Amino acid sequence: MIDQLAGIIKEYRDFYIMTHVNPDGDAIGSLLGMYLALKENGKNAIPIIGAEFPELFQFLPGSGNTVIGFDSIGFNPSHIIVLDVAAENRISPEIGDLRKSAKLVNIDHHPTNPLYGDYNYVLPSANSTTQLVYEILTRAKYRLNLDVAKCLYTGLVTDTGCFKFAGVTSATFELAARLLEFGVDNYDITRKLFEEFPESRLTLERLMIERLEVLLDGKLVLSYIDNEDYHKLGASLSEGESLVNRLRETRGVEVGGLITKLSENQYKVSLRSKGIVNVATVAAALGGGGHSRAAGLKVSMSREEIRERLIRLIDSSLNSSTT
Ligand code: AMP
Ligand code: MN
Ligand code: MN
Repeated sequence: MIDQLAGIIKEYRDFYIMTHVNPDGDAIGSLLGMYLALKENGKNAIPIIGAEFPELFQFLPGSGNTVIGFDSIGFNPSHIIVLDVAAENRISPEIGDLRKSAKLVNIDHHPTNPLYGDYNYVLPSANSTTQLVYEILTRAKYRLNLDVAKCLYTGLVTDTGCFKFAGVTSATFELAARLLEFGVDNYDITRKLFEEFPESRLTLERLMIERLEVLLDGKLVLSYIDNEDYHKLGASLSEGESLVNRLRETRGVEVGGLITKLSENQYKVSLRSKGIVNVATVAAALGGGGHSRAAGLKVSMSREEIRERLIRLIDSSLNSSTT
């Protein structure tokens, strides 16, 4: 499949590039990395996003070239390259009729990915989707540059939690080394990603900590943040992106979960596990998906019902792991 994809980006000329709703560093890093590499190698590519470009990633090269939605673009690409998207309904914006005129290339590392593309390169063992982008680009013998490397490195550090999450191997560091060789400044990137948050994020974190509940004998920590909180602080949803990680940092905690209210009865849940509980399975039971240690879902239920369902699912997962 990787040869086939390398062949596609060499042979064809016009591409849309897309990623998931509420894009994280891997989503934006792969979107912009692929876009810049295609441009560098003489292709026409348009990176499409569903909503305003997240402020956190505006320092990345190519961020100013992203286009919101498909409106008024007279462009008929042969392929839509979809990056880091676990499920077709998470592609942002919806591609609708475009699928009739263009082939969908699904490049991802979520184990729950149902292979919704016309071409699917889904490798759950990959640390990040940017790793897969790098592999395809090098297989196509594409010329890379510092800007592409910055974007791909961003995805790698985000999805590995700065090289601390499970799944990091010597190959991860080899890829990091290849990217740094282009001249990427590691601290420049990590500082911008993790040490330059707006003050409102600190307030969101305080709210999350104030509201947390320790459940299931200290194995589960749940908390919540509401759209009204974001609204009051003038904060964007992307500011809450990695807050959930804090909830699993305590000894004995197996799962941290953050319930974010998006609108009346519309919630997004982020789950993080240390390994015993497969949160991708928990999320899938409620219509979501993700990785075994980082998963998410979106549901229309009350917060109380979500809380109850999560406690029950996680409790039974913890019990089945000890028997
Ligand atoms: P998040 O907690 O939003 O950072 O998401 C954690 C992981 O779960 C990411 O890898 C997401 O791609 C995946 N994920 C989040 N929400 C959903 C969803 N509604 N459906 C499928 N996968 C999701
Ligand atoms: Mn992602
Ligand atoms: Mn990813």
